[in-house]
Parts: sequence; C-alpha cells; structure tokens
Amino acid sequence: MFNVTVEGAVEGETYPDVIGFTGADSNLKWRDVTIKAVDRKMWQVPYRSLVPKRMNNLLVAGRCFGFEKGLMYDAREVGTCIMTGEAAGAAAAQAVSSRCSCRDVDVPRLQKTLRSAGAKLDW
Ligand SMILES: Cc1cc2nc3c(=O)[nH]c(=O)nc-3n(C[C@H](O)[C@H](O)[C@H](O)COP(=O)(O)OP(=O)(O)OC[C@H]3O[C@@H](n4cnc5c(N)ncnc54)[C@H](O)[C@@H]3O)c2cc1C
Repeated sequence: MFNVTVEGAVEGETYPDVIGFTGADSNLKWRDVTIKAVDRKMWQVPYRSLVPKRMNNLLVAGRCFGFEKGLMYDAREVGTCIMTGEAAGAAAAQAVSSRCSCRDVDVPRLQKTLRSAGAKLDW
C-alpha cells in the first residue's frame, strides 16, 4: 500500500482520496530537526494507504495502515485508528453493495458517506 511520508506530512501534502486527518500531538524529528507538536500541522490520510498493493479485498486500518516509521506516534493514536477504521468499514460496505473490489470503490462516494457521518476531509 501507499506509505504516507514524513516529508508529505510535514509539507502538508494533499490527496484527492483523503479519508481524514491526523497528527500534531507529538514532537516529530525530520531532517535532524525536532518539530514541536505545537508547531506541527495535521496531515492527511489517503484511502490508498489502506489498500494493499498485491492482495485484493483486504483493507488495512488502525496502526497498520501505510505510513513511514517516523509517523508512528501519530498513526497509532486511538483517534487515527478510529478514523481509518471508519473509512475501511464504510469502503468495505460500499464494495459489497457495488459488487466491486475494495481497490475499485468509488472514492468520491466514499468521501460523501464519511462527510455525511461528520468526518472532516477538508483543511
Ligand atoms: C498500554 C497501552 C497504552 C496506550 N495508551 C494510549 C493512549 O493513551 N492514547 C492513544 O491514543 N493510544 C494509546 N495506545 C495506542 C493505541 O491503543 C493503539 O495504537 C490502538 O488501539 C491500535 O488500534 P488497532 O485497531 O490498530 O488495534 P487494536 O486496538 O489492538 O485492535 C485489534 C483488535 O483485533 C482483535 N484481534 C486480534 N487478532 C484477532 C483475530 N485473529 N480475530 C479476531 N480479532 C482479532 C484484538 O483482540 C483487538 O480487539 C496505547 C497502547 C497500549 C498498548
């Protein structure tokens, strides 16, 4: 699956398949500089970081979704696990009802479902 990079998280990279935000609760070391939590931005989690590259109809949520090691403290937090779990569950339900692979779910429709449940997907 796609791994969110520390650089992407620090630079505020955006993804068309965003499913939620996380981060900024802990200090982060990047390029030999420690960025304090208070100075950090939230970072986006894209749907593609839940979808394994080689295995079909499997979604990976919680502390196992795709991210670089340096983002572990953000990714393992309960809030992040809830967010990726909700997205994975909604995507799986959509895949079943659409009779398609989890890899092929209609992402704008998934995002609409998540927004209607109160998820924040915009900066
Ligand atoms: C001691 C401790 C303290 C923590 N404190 C905090 C904190 O204060 N704040 C915070 O944000 N985070 C904290 N964390 C981190 C956070 O709890 C975890 O990163 C997070 O719960 C991981 O969520 P998850 O869904 O990936 O996995 P889990 O919460 O581990 O959920 C996995 C679930 O899968 C089940 N399971 C496993 N194998 C199978 C199987 N074969 N079949 C069916 N079910 C199975 C398990 O029983 C479990 O219920 C703490 C972690 C620990 C260990």
